[in-house]
Amino acid sequence: MTHKKEKGWNFDNSYTSLPKSFFSSLNPTPVSSPKLIIINHPLATSLGLNVKYLQSEDGVAVLAGNEIPEGASPLAQAYAGHQFGHFNMLGDGRAVLLGEQISPQGERFDIQLKGSGRTSYSRGGDGRAALGPMLREYIISEAMHALGIPTTRSLAVVTTGESIFRDTELPGAILTRVAASHLRVGTFQYVAQWGTAEELRILADYTIKRHYPEIEADENRYHSLLWEVIKRQAELVANWQLVGFIHGVMNTDNMTISGETIDYGPCAFMDNYDPATVFSSIDVQGRYSYGNQPYMAGWNLARFAESLLPLLDDNMEQAVELAQKKISEYNKLFYSNLLAGMRKKLGIFNEEKEDESLINDLLKMMKEHRADYTNTFRALTLDKLDDIALFGTSEFTKWHERWLKRLEKQQESKSSSRELMQNSNPAIIPRNHRVEEALEAAVEQGDYSVMERLLKVLSNPYAYSAEQAEYSTLATSTTPYQTFCGT
Ligand code: AMP
Ligand code: MG
Repeated sequence: MTHKKEKGWNFDNSYTSLPKSFFSSLNPTPVSSPKLIIINHPLATSLGLNVKYLQSEDGVAVLAGNEIPEGASPLAQAYAGHQFGHFNMLGDGRAVLLGEQISPQGERFDIQLKGSGRTSYSRGGDGRAALGPMLREYIISEAMHALGIPTTRSLAVVTTGESIFRDTELPGAILTRVAASHLRVGTFQYVAQWGTAEELRILADYTIKRHYPEIEADENRYHSLLWEVIKRQAELVANWQLVGFIHGVMNTDNMTISGETIDYGPCAFMDNYDPATVFSSIDVQGRYSYGNQPYMAGWNLARFAESLLPLLDDNMEQAVELAQKKISEYNKLFYSNLLAGMRKKLGIFNEEKEDESLINDLLKMMKEHRADYTNTFRALTLDKLDDIALFGTSEFTKWHERWLKRLEKQQESKSSSRELMQNSNPAIIPRNHRVEEALEAAVEQGDYSVMERLLKVLSNPYAYSAEQAEYSTLATSTTPYQTFCGT
């Protein structure tokens, strides 16, 4: 028992009690010479893990998949998914769930190694990941967490000492991902497609117990499950829109049931406001553009509802009707979340009819003048209306007067309004050129200091501190930024 305390591992493995077809038990594939690159101290501590141990040879061996910690029962999860609209059998092809760590507060977290070798779901893939993309996931997921947006977290990145081959030879790495769970819309699609009705019920009950215990006793808990998942996604995607986050690959296997953002592949933050913005090189049709995200989330939720149909009602027609009704409510809910968030971004506390047009008119001007999304709201927050071209237009001057008049229609003081704006408009986001700069120093020169500084300023995006100012400047390069999948 002292052993357990020293290291801090406290695993439970509830997923292994599910039907055998839901997963494959297997260990990560050992690597030749693991080296710790970065470890998340606050996260480790909140999980009850001993940071010194994780930094030691024994701890790094676990983070690299060379040692299985006491109490873990590693497995790869089966799931399916619609990838850009096409339904496929998928599963953890390069990840292994070590187990569920029970934190000192009694919360349950999946501890997953990503890039840990081939599994029975790898198809043609090598089961591995490269250092750059794993550090990228670390930076952006931690930035999202600091922004207050539900997300999987990053505990550590280790290099494997082995090369992997993409377009070129790259250093191999493993990310330790921490999640409320890895249950996805695609997990339900997998069981709905290939499992039995009883297995679907087992999966739904497991999900309810794990994520929505408050609905367990509801008259029809599966109706409630559908609605709860819709609510979390309507909130999540509104949060993404409000900070200009573009996920980039909203396939149904990349949408969690817990409502956490997952799978930081080709994601990036929007610079100038334009709903058509896409960064992913493979998203040629703009399916997952900024402006399409709310719609695509609705599409994915419809796939989730379809998977649940046998549980919603014995009569298929009635099940479909119910599912459609809930999905149509998603649209309204998403929009009201977005509107509420936009009001906060403009320092507005109460609701007035004119708010919608006030917001839309600002966004329209921002689009026309290619104004930077984050920096426009940052400047309005700071009341520093000089260095953005849009602010010099007469159109904007008129809008600004309208906005100030609108603020007078509430009881709250000017300073409360500013405070609300400061807490709702990040002073900094992980700017694409800053992320690239940090990754280049790390991967090309083995210099992690650039990334560490970036992580530090991103850890409190609403601080408006002096050291953040330089991180708000835009890239000088005019080449459009591109991101890549499957790296
Ligand atoms: P993603 O694009 O990361 O959502 O991954 C889609 C699917 O491809 C998942 O089933 C992954 O496990 C699998 N996959 C991605 N990269 C690899 C790889 N290098 N080796 C094996 N499977 C992979
Ligand atoms: Mg994925």
